Amino acid sequence: MKTAVILAAGLGSRLKELNDDKPKAFLELSNIPLIKRSVDILLKYGVQEIIIGTGFKEEFFVKFATNYPQIQLVNNYHYTETGSLYTLWNLRNKIKNDFLLLESDLLYEQWAIKTLLDDARTDLILCSSRTNSGDEVYVGTDDHLRFIKMSKDPSELHSIAGELVGISKISLDTYQEICNFCVKQLRETPTPTQHYEDGLNAVATTTPLFAKIATGLLWCEIDNAAHLERAKKIVYPRIVDREQPAKLTRNILLNPGPATTTDSVKAAQVVPDICPREKSFGNLMQDISTKLIALATSEPERYSCVLFGGSGTAAVEALISSVVDPTQNKAVLVINNGAYGARMKEMASIYKYDVEEFKSSQYQPINMSELEEFISNSAKTFSHLFMVHHETTTGILNDIQAVGEICAKHKIELAVDTISSYAAVPIDMEKMNLQYIVSTSNKNLQAMPGISFVIAKSVKVEGLLNIPPNNLYLNLYQQYKYFKENSQMRFTPPVQSFYCLKQALSELEKEGVHMRYKRYSKCWQTLKEGLAQLKLETLVDEAHQSKLLTTIVNPHNPLFNFDKLHDYLLSKGITIYPGKLTDKATFRIANIGEIYPEDIEQFLVHLKEYLREICHTI
Ligand code: PLP
Ligand code: MG
Ligand code: MG
Repeated sequence: MKTAVILAAGLGSRLKELNDDKPKAFLELSNIPLIKRSVDILLKYGVQEIIIGTGFKEEFFVKFATNYPQIQLVNNYHYTETGSLYTLWNLRNKIKNDFLLLESDLLYEQWAIKTLLDDARTDLILCSSRTNSGDEVYVGTDDHLRFIKMSKDPSELHSIAGELVGISKISLDTYQEICNFCVKQLRETPTPTQHYEDGLNAVATTTPLFAKIATGLLWCEIDNAAHLERAKKIVYPRIVDREQPAKLTRNILLNPGPATTTDSVKAAQVVPDICPREKSFGNLMQDISTKLIALATSEPERYSCVLFGGSGTAAVEALISSVVDPTQNKAVLVINNGAYGARMKEMASIYKYDVEEFKSSQYQPINMSELEEFISNSAKTFSHLFMVHHETTTGILNDIQAVGEICAKHKIELAVDTISSYAAVPIDMEKMNLQYIVSTSNKNLQAMPGISFVIAKSVKVEGLLNIPPNNLYLNLYQQYKYFKENSQMRFTPPVQSFYCLKQALSELEKEGVHMRYKRYSKCWQTLKEGLAQLKLETLVDEAHQSKLLTTIVNPHNPLFNFDKLHDYLLSKGITIYPGKLTDKATFRIANIGEIYPEDIEQFLVHLKEYLREICHTI
């Protein structure tokens, strides 16, 4: 709705002394005039033109309007003798559309406007529950909330929907009828004293208007000193309290995801309930898919993103269980240099593939000639090679491009778990010869958990059509096909996580993947230097370090206890993560998410305190 009309001609006689002889609309709460608050809310909800019917002390409005090109003023020169019906009729040359009609002396919560705009019907009178303000106008309806009449005397009404707030939604047709009613009055007297409420009462006999109930809405009008007192002491403080976003404690998560998020990402999940089968939600998922693809390839138009509800492992399992064709009688190869590679091997075994494992050191880089020899010397032919890009077990970054070259040579499809590298370490599927990658929403994307995805060339996924299914929920081809045809996921998506991901992607766009990795790397550099000062040993050589996660060897001190260190840091708002190695006692620090070098410095200060005061090691 583009237009709003504010009736502001009145004398405000009951408030004159209190308001320094200004119109009521210029009463201030926290130094903000009522009219400014109202206009700002209307503009926030997309209103583009605001027509104000002025009269008493128009000069205040003239001055106010200089800051708002959206405002037009129309003076009712007869404001002392006429009522607000006349002021409304007086705007007839300006009003060209359906509009929101507001009184000028209102203080109200923003959602009053939203609830009217969100309702598809055109003629609505907003009603609140009981206010006990002492000046109530009751809205009378039939049993179906069709408006019949409003009155200060409840005994005149059949059924009361609530109290008149003073905000209505009026169609152009209804406005025409209100004008006709005013013209009728003008035949009797040039200065009719009826109010706009009388106009609504009159047209309701022939035109369907409805009460829109806003249960619990905080609002008041300010007509006299008591109203003003109530607004200042009760209504305004409660509105301010409700409209303030909840202040959340900021925790510094140094575990490798779910990572620390921005407040704007956290807030993005507070959205009106929506059925995910609605078109707008399908569009949201489409936009997100397009952006996720763009982070993985220089040829986005040839690729698809298959979304799943589930953690990263869900998409890894969807991949492994969907792409291998058993009728080909080929084996699959898994590189295992950490817990996540080992898990891929376990999955391949569970799905009863003929699986070979190439084991590699957890701290040393993969030896590419050994890998190639392994492939060449194997009696088996491999259809796929599964591996992890950033092995989060240790922080080692595997050279997927080098593996990609070997795979290309041996006609093996390379499928990579990029769960903890995607959106930080640059990936180009085309250049690196990656046929499939997998990632998730809650690591470097800095969104909420619940969404995981597989990215691959569209033709590649379409080629999976004839593979006999091993799975149902996790079937990559079916999920792809359904999304392509319907812009929907087959099963319930994590709705709110998608809104967070949308926000997170727009924040990533602003920062840029390159700068995000730079920020992470700076955090890592700070960590590395701090650890060196504390004489703590790390596992992976800098050349093969992801710069996203560091494995630290526990100090050789019997007083050192990871759980105690964890609890000590947690009490300071910092979360650290245990190690995952079987042969060495270690712990891990990830530096992904919405964190900055200052956060790492804070961690180092507390780590030092712990080592000095509790372990006496330094
Ligand atoms: N793969 C890698 C490389 C990971 O780092 C992780 C989680 O840390 C996973 C897989 C598993 O992801 P999720 O816990 O979301 O299932
Ligand atoms: Mg009133
Ligand atoms: Mg009033």
